Amino acid sequence: MRAKLIDGKRIAADIRADVAKDASALAAEGVTPGLGVVLVGGDPASQVYVRMKTRACEEAGIATRDIKPDADITQEDLLSIVDELNADPDTHGILVQLPLPKHLNEREVTERILPEKDVDGFHPVNQGRMAQGDRDAFRPATPAGVQELIKRTGVDTTGKHVVIVGRSNIVGMPMSTILLQKEPGANATVTVAHSRTKDLASITLQGEILIVAVGVPEMVKGDMVREGAVVIDVGVNRVDDPSTERGYRLVGDVEFEAAAERADWITPVPGGVGPMTIAMLLSNTVRAARRTLEGAPAGAA
Ligand code: NDP
Repeated sequence: MRAKLIDGKRIAADIRADVAKDASALAAEGVTPGLGVVLVGGDPASQVYVRMKTRACEEAGIATRDIKPDADITQEDLLSIVDELNADPDTHGILVQLPLPKHLNEREVTERILPEKDVDGFHPVNQGRMAQGDRDAFRPATPAGVQELIKRTGVDTTGKHVVIVGRSNIVGMPMSTILLQKEPGANATVTVAHSRTKDLASITLQGEILIVAVGVPEMVKGDMVREGAVVIDVGVNRVDDPSTERGYRLVGDVEFEAAAERADWITPVPGGVGPMTIAMLLSNTVRAARRTLEGAPAGAA
């Protein structure tokens, strides 16, 4: 394998250790950072994510308040839960685990969270201010984590051609906004590809940095990767594998082995972007708590 691995687990552990120090400094000043976590229904994947997030919070000294309404909760009742967390002075950040059951309106719920408690960075006020270059706005955890991974690998993004495959509101779109900013770790020239892009390979081959978030197992083949590229694979997909105990294994959106023969740097799946998402959520929560102590509202408000 030619590429060096970008060790998301190690980098995330470093960030979590810094977060734990900040949380303990805050506690010494009388503020225990708090995260309110709302998980509607019993979707198994969401349960796993929420468990991982709450465990990471505990380790970092962040108090969690878990609320787990049944899947048939009404929109009105869910909004009341958000209102209650908005009003709770011990809750500095709020996370409503998505996706929500079909009968609920995700957008309305997301917009109900106070921007200063929106540690997931999904509120349009935070996304809008981020797009306008406001560095205090909370950024969505996954793309913020990708930026941090690239920075800590020592790769300079300035003037580089970054190709992002995927334009979702939680990954691809904010990723492009972040890397376009006039700031260290950004200043890139960004191309965003999606399902309507023609001749995808001709675009991905231009990427000095290639970030893939499509949700299709191993869709980006090795020969679609530019020689010497930095490859960040956001995808997490289960594929059947009877040879494993669980009967499946996790793969990314990039054909790892072949891509690793051409890239200079590559993230593994698992152990690449995934751990960073949680680390950045914790980091945002401690920032939100710090802001209340400083008397300035956190996030964009
Ligand atoms: P979405 O399904 O919301 O978006 C997928 C994007 O990929 C869309 O923009 C879609 O295009 C594009 N796309 C789909 N098929 C193709 C194709 N054949 N060619 C080019 N583009 C295509 O997914 P998410 O952004 O939410 O997630 C993407 C992946 O990242 C998933 O595997 C998910 O599990 C993973 N993920 C991982 C996280 C982590 O912490 N590691 C966090 C969040 C997500 P169009 O817009 O035209 O439909």
